[in-house]
Amino acid sequence: MPSHSDGNITITNPDLRKIPVAEWIKEAEKLFGPDKRQWKFKCPSCGHVQTPGNFIEMNKNQGIDLSPETAWFSCIGRWFDIPDEKVGTIFDKGKQPCNYTLGGLIRLAKTIVIDPEGNEHRVFEFAEVKP
Ligand SMILES: [Zn+2]
Repeated sequence: MPSHSDGNITITNPDLRKIPVAEWIKEAEKLFGPDKRQWKFKCPSCGHVQTPGNFIEMNKNQGIDLSPETAWFSCIGRWFDIPDEKVGTIFDKGKQPCNYTLGGLIRLAKTIVIDPEGNEHRVFEFAEVKP
């Protein structure tokens, strides 16, 4: 049980790591190659795997202009015209995709990327590469 005296509960994630953005890019390129659109990210809530390329495609199909970089902090189910009943929430385990985002209140990130200005960005984990 967390110990607390002021009413706040701090959840410490022992797996949390902070890495410079250059190192994070190096890891991504090693796993998926230099083309950012092919980088695979896994939603920590529903497990859906997505790429910035998926977002580019959805933009094209639906006439939207969302940053492909959204792929590393927001599940694709949050965006675009997908019927609500097909999109899971943090409470629907296994329903993919979902509407989870690291920009919200519940932060499931295990990796924090530090940009050159020292700002911290929570990101989804890279998806496993199938052998
Ligand atoms: Zn999701």
